[in-house]
Amino acid sequence: MHLNLEEFENFTKISDDISWKFTTGTLTEGNFGITDIYPSKGVSEDELLKLAYSVETQSDHPIAKGIVREGKERKLELYEVKDFKNLTGKGLTANVNGAEVSVISPGAMRANHISFDEKVYEKLAGQGKTVVFVVKDDVLQGMIALADIIRKSSFEVIKELHDRGIETVMMTGDNSRVANYVGEQLGISKVIAEVLPHEKSKYVRELKQGGKKVAMIGDGINDAPALAEADVGIAIGAGTDVAIETADVILVNSNPSDILNILRLSKATTRKMFQNLVWAAGYNIIAIPLAAGILYNVGIVITPAIGAVIMSLSTIICAINAQLLKIE
Ligand code: ADP
Ligand code: MG
Repeated sequence: MHLNLEEFENFTKISDDISWKFTTGTLTEGNFGITDIYPSKGVSEDELLKLAYSVETQSDHPIAKGIVREGKERKLELYEVKDFKNLTGKGLTANVNGAEVSVISPGAMRANHISFDEKVYEKLAGQGKTVVFVVKDDVLQGMIALADIIRKSSFEVIKELHDRGIETVMMTGDNSRVANYVGEQLGISKVIAEVLPHEKSKYVRELKQGGKKVAMIGDGINDAPALAEADVGIAIGAGTDVAIETADVILVNSNPSDILNILRLSKATTRKMFQNLVWAAGYNIIAIPLAAGILYNVGIVITPAIGAVIMSLSTIICAINAQLLKIE
C-alpha cells in the first residue's frame, strides 16, 4: 500500500456508512477468453477473427487481450492497421486495407443503427458473456463472445461488506445483461451498467451528495476521474498507470480481499490515534498542574527532572503503542 499524508487522513475516515463501488474488471479476473464466434454469411471464422485481431493489437483493454491471445493461438496473420482510434467505453476503430473496421459494443451498434441477430445476442448475454461486433464499412462481419471469470475472493468480499452493513454498487461500461449476471452471482446491492467513461465520476458524486462516503475500486483509464472523485480511491495493482496514479490506495497484489484488510487496518489506525491522544494529552493534563504546584499543600510536586523523565516516558509509550499496530 502507498499513501501520502493527506490521503492517509481520508483513508482513516473509512467508516461503516461507506458505499463501495467496483467496476467489472475488479471483481472478475480481467482475463477474457473467446467462447463463441458467429461470423456473418459469406465471412469465414478466421477472416472475422483476423479483422478483430489486427485492430485489437492496438489496444490493451482486457477484451483486446482475449482476442489477441486467440489470434496468436490460431497463428493468424495480421493485416496492416492505420489510423487507430479508441472509442472510449464503446470499442475501437481503425483503417484496415482501406476499409474502416470497428470492434464495438451492442450499445454502439444500436447508436450506429446497424442491425444484428438479437436472439443470438440475447442468448450469449444471458449467459453473462460480453459480446463485441466486428463491423467493416458499416457492414456487420460477425459477433465474438467473450467470458471472464468472477474471482473467487470477490464472493467473500461482497458478503463480508454486506455483513458489516456496507452497501455495494457495481458500475461498468459493459452491457446491462452481463453486468446484471455478474451482479446477481455476487449478490451486489446495485448494478449500474452501460456507463460511459465520463459518467462514472458523476455517479460517484451523486452518491456522495446523498450523504454517503464512497470508496471506489477501479483498474481502467476510464476509472481515474471516479477514483479521484470518491472519498477513497482504490486501484488494482495490475490496472492502468493512470488509475494507479489517481488512487489513494493501491492493491499491489490485485486481490479484492485486500479491501477487507484496508477496512481492518483503517479501523486499527483510528483506534491507535485515539489511544495515543489519551496517552499524550492525559500526561499533560495531570502533570502540568502538578508541576505548577496545585497539590503543593499536600506535599506533591513534580520537579523539572521527574517531569522530563515522565515526558519521555509518555513519548516512548506512544511510539511503542504505534508500533504494536503491526501485530494487530
Ligand atoms: P468497464 O467499465 O467495465 O471497465 P469499459 O468502459 O472498459 O468497461 O468498456 C465498456 C464496453 O466497451 C465493453 O463492454 C465493450 O463492449 C466495449 N469495449 C471497450 N474496449 C473495447 C475493445 N478494445 N474492443 C472491443 N470492445 C471494447
Ligand atoms: Mg475498464
